[in-house]
Amino acid sequence: MKAKILFLVLILSSLSSITAVNARLNSDDSVLINYIDKHKTNQLKLLEDLVNINSGTGNRRGVEKVGERFRIELDDLGFKTQWVNLPASMKHAGSLVATHSGPGKKILIIGHLDTVFPSHSPFQSFTLSPDHLSATGPGVIDDKGGLVTILYALKALNQAGKLKYANLTVVLTGDEEQAEKPTSISRKALTEAAQGSDIALGFEFSLTENQLVTGRRGLSEWYLSSSGKSGHSSKIFQAASGDGAIYETARVLNSFRTVLSNIPGLTLNPGIILGGQTVKEDTQQNTGNASGQKTIIAAQTLVHGDLRFLSDEQKCMVEQKMREITMSALPLTSSQLIFNNIMPAMSEKNENRQLLAEFSDISVALGGSSLQAVSAAERGGADISYIAQYVSASLDGLGPWGKGAHSQSETLEVKSLPEVTKRAAIFINHYLN
Ligand SMILES: [Zn+2]
Repeated sequence: MKAKILFLVLILSSLSSITAVNARLNSDDSVLINYIDKHKTNQLKLLEDLVNINSGTGNRRGVEKVGERFRIELDDLGFKTQWVNLPASMKHAGSLVATHSGPGKKILIIGHLDTVFPSHSPFQSFTLSPDHLSATGPGVIDDKGGLVTILYALKALNQAGKLKYANLTVVLTGDEEQAEKPTSISRKALTEAAQGSDIALGFEFSLTENQLVTGRRGLSEWYLSSSGKSGHSSKIFQAASGDGAIYETARVLNSFRTVLSNIPGLTLNPGIILGGQTVKEDTQQNTGNASGQKTIIAAQTLVHGDLRFLSDEQKCMVEQKMREITMSALPLTSSQLIFNNIMPAMSEKNENRQLLAEFSDISVALGGSSLQAVSAAERGGADISYIAQYVSASLDGLGPWGKGAHSQSETLEVKSLPEVTKRAAIFINHYLN
């Protein structure tokens, strides 16, 4: 009797979940779901093949090989594909750009072909756990998991006869992990694609099954140089000698800390400091030289730091405050600041949260969890940061979830792969209608 009741409860609960699913998913969606479920072994096999091709950012041939593997697949789906190479003076691979014209609003899809693991890294191959629940390998989530998510979502749409309506550009960059400078050149293909697009979807990995990225902090760097009047240490603080460069730098840094350390979402970090009679930083090698004596008032200091910010407005406000702080210099000293932009912020906005809500509804309809925005402070920049300003809405973290990215324990949770692929395919299908 008890067993019968339990059986009835199970039937009723599965019926009610089917009703809930049907409320949001249409018959095309079930074609997408079936295709993705049926092909998940092929998808995982392709991921294995891609992970086993070394594509560390510096390994241009490897990066291009991964891109070529993709190019064939995208050509088959009717995309127009081309490599946008970087100028000869830059050593990295360019971007593979694939366009599919169709009616309606245009979606930009972003992924990257490179990994942080160079050809000489000991971490080179794909390993599936004995229970098949997880897989490790260089780039298995960052970002080759994202690449196979993109491809199988597109294949599913093609199978359902929906791809022909899609207006899509896929940009797979060759050096996301270490973008060639200036980024105005290395991100040109991405920027141009974004300028003609309505929304951007980034397929970087996710840290958990219920988090997506609606904002990423921007990054810039600053150099603070101070100078003072050199002289015998016994005369420091006297009117004719002044306070010296090192005290002036200490004043500026302490003011940065007291004035700017409590602004939400903002951090600034002095990473290296040099002071004495002469100073020289080698930014390529991350080293520096300083010469001086304890008995001589310091003539020069140099500080090199970074700045992370939530929006362009916040960046401008902070740069202005930093400049003001440098202006009230100690006696017979002066300070100067130079700023270099590295990566703009992908600013949080309602339109991004709207995309998140749509993905969340799909996730719930698929029987998964509702999705939340991860705090911008918890994730670094990514390629989507360069272009978020050009589209009306953007969302990142749409690749599979796992852990240990950029380390030799980089791990994919295998079941996440069909899951995120379904979310993406269904989202695109609904966006077409
Ligand atoms: Zn990545």
